[in-house]
Amino acid sequence: MRKLASIRKISKVLLHSNAEKLGIYIIEGWQVIDQKDRYKEGDTIIYCEIDSFLPVKPEFEFLRKTSYRKMGVLEGFRLRTIRLRGELSQGLIIPIEVLNNHDHYAVGEDVSEHLDIIKYEPPIPEHLSGEVLGPFPGYIPKTDEERVQNLDYEDLKAHTYYVTEKLDGSSCTIFLTDGHFGVCSRNLELKETDGNSYWGVARRMNLEEILKKTGRNLALQGELIGFRIQANIYQVNHTEFRMFKVYDIDQKKYFTIPEMYQFGAMYNIPVVPLIDSEYVLPTDIEAVLKYAEGPSLLNEKAGREGIVLFAATNPTAHFKVISNSFLEGED
Ligand code: ATP
Ligand code: MN
Repeated sequence: MRKLASIRKISKVLLHSNAEKLGIYIIEGWQVIDQKDRYKEGDTIIYCEIDSFLPVKPEFEFLRKTSYRKMGVLEGFRLRTIRLRGELSQGLIIPIEVLNNHDHYAVGEDVSEHLDIIKYEPPIPEHLSGEVLGPFPGYIPKTDEERVQNLDYEDLKAHTYYVTEKLDGSSCTIFLTDGHFGVCSRNLELKETDGNSYWGVARRMNLEEILKKTGRNLALQGELIGFRIQANIYQVNHTEFRMFKVYDIDQKKYFTIPEMYQFGAMYNIPVVPLIDSEYVLPTDIEAVLKYAEGPSLLNEKAGREGIVLFAATNPTAHFKVISNSFLEGED
């Protein structure tokens, strides 16, 4: 689960070169613009990441103009990536004093619940929500990636990486186990119904037959992209599945990245674009954030959403770097 609001420390304070009254506050890999001299290096604060959905309260009214959103029947303020006087600002710092007994909290603790902060989720179109067959199968890991800003960048530098393009669509898991063929969205197994895009693609690609042919119990995980999915920056007028992981259900382990690409080639299953296979992380996190920005390999006219990196030597090390230009363009 993503920590939306958590106890953190101000790592560094910088001057805003273009605004006398503003300061730049660095919190691990994140940068937030706020009033100058409001916090100093080492201060313990609450940091709310982008995508936090803050309740309507007087202290957050200043966000109304830019961030007011409805989520179902709920009203609130969605924190986004913005630029203030030319400097990137992501998320919000809240003084720790707003919490009762604030000295009882440890750095790293998630305080979202105390502040009524939940994650903003955009509405899901009907062709994707479908009808639920059951929960996501417990014997297959769900897809998820941590953001580079929340990890120890120095530790990550110990590896070299396969770099894949992160596609902006909907997570899809298609599996066969002991004769049962299943199709799942991010968190649920879906019934096969007319008009459901996940099932439509699985059938069109003959994935049940392909999985049966392998003679193994496997789960294919990928991104559903295209028509009516997110903003469809790829401008394709159909729906397609682009695989990024293969999980061996019996052995309880993922294929390596080369094995996954080989498998895709062998069975004619499209895969996510591979950008580099021997990438060495640059000295600073700023440089990898810059590298994440670039054209999509599926549509060179569109800026990609970002990248997902997989360590070549250690399959447990993988993370995402979302392009800040892409985030700035989100509504
Ligand atoms: P967050 O937790 O940051 O709020 P999120 O978990 O909803 O976001 P994303 O930001 O989309 O999801 O990041 C993780 C998802 O990225 C995975 O669940 C997967 O569906 C998707 N994805 C797209 N392209 C790739 C790729 N190349 N490799 C791995 N995952 C990918
Ligand atoms: Mn996530």
